[in-house]
Amino acid sequence: MNDAGLQPITIRAVRLYPVALPLVERLGTSFGKEPFKAAVLIRLETEEGVEGWGETSAEINPGYSAETMGTALHVLQEFLVPRVLGQRLHSPARIPALFAPVRGHPLAKHGIEAAVWDALARRNGLSLAQLFARYLPAGHEPRARAVVGVSIGIQETLAETLRIIEQRLGEGYARVKLKIRPGWDVELARGVRAALPDIALMLDANSAYRLEDAEHLRRLDEFDLLMLEQPLAWNDIHEHSKLQPQLRTDLCLDESIHHLGDARLAIELGACRIINLKPARVSGYWESLAIYRFCVGQQVPLWIGGLLETGVGRAANLAFAALPGVTLPSDISGTARYYAPDITEPAFVPAADSTIATPTGPGSGVTVQPERLRAAVQRWRERCPYRGYAPYEGPEA
Ligand code: MG
Repeated sequence: MNDAGLQPITIRAVRLYPVALPLVERLGTSFGKEPFKAAVLIRLETEEGVEGWGETSAEINPGYSAETMGTALHVLQEFLVPRVLGQRLHSPARIPALFAPVRGHPLAKHGIEAAVWDALARRNGLSLAQLFARYLPAGHEPRARAVVGVSIGIQETLAETLRIIEQRLGEGYARVKLKIRPGWDVELARGVRAALPDIALMLDANSAYRLEDAEHLRRLDEFDLLMLEQPLAWNDIHEHSKLQPQLRTDLCLDESIHHLGDARLAIELGACRIINLKPARVSGYWESLAIYRFCVGQQVPLWIGGLLETGVGRAANLAFAALPGVTLPSDISGTARYYAPDITEPAFVPAADSTIATPTGPGSGVTVQPERLRAAVQRWRERCPYRGYAPYEGPEA
């Protein structure tokens, strides 16, 4: 399958909306906590009358990624938007080539690429998941529901952690991921396992350890973890390849995987046995499909991670997570966990079997609510923490 027969779009305008959303629950990780959720929402208008929406899920601080809200707005406005304006596109495959002269900035690139996917899908009466599947071999049609899990930040106490886990299990989530850091790891896992011996449990270290901690990390082997995510440096593959053979627990790489070449290197070196694919981190869905095909070919378990996306980004990730080569539960929670309300409708609601329905389209299957967008842009203008460095106001929402 490919783009044969797809109706093209011609990009007439691209609008950028920096937004701020209050989080229902701030997610504590080994990086710290962000005060609110920021993102740049991207509206792409076409000559054919369809719109496409994408999200650049940059953060305020360069913690998870080197990109920030300030760099994203700068790079989008000055370099990426001019490269797509006026383009007539039959396929999202053109986007990586158009962006090739701009090095780095995967989150910014992903936002525009996602808007192109959405507009092309809407133009052709397809759901995003159906459009993704056109670029995969037969047999990779999307499932009706994506299997999801929940990610829980670092809490003050074990008792509080257990209370939240019980609550999430009650909401239907069957796979639990806990954030850890040195001093909050082995005893946490021991306490959770003692209370909940059978749950699917995994830990995410967000690069908080060093290779010298291998002996300590080996103590996690006794807790039958689904995986341990990104224990070592965010840009490392080599030292993870030294750590994995010392552990029975499967390592999963997240921050270290920026493109297909990283995935191939990590698997060939034995640096991990599982990959967390965040489409934004690898510049978009085109590169994500390449990593997907690689993982399917190598029988590497794959799941989709998240960056606390608003409904715009989450809908697209959910569509990708519905593809059958995504073999482990993805980090895509129901809307109510993060935003009340979100910026889009309809909301995503997890079912009792730890799944969320795949949006059926057209496009991403969600609609941006103008009033909420206006309020979120206003909130960004009022609370932007580095107004003096990035005076960007954006077009009127
Ligand atoms: Mg992670």
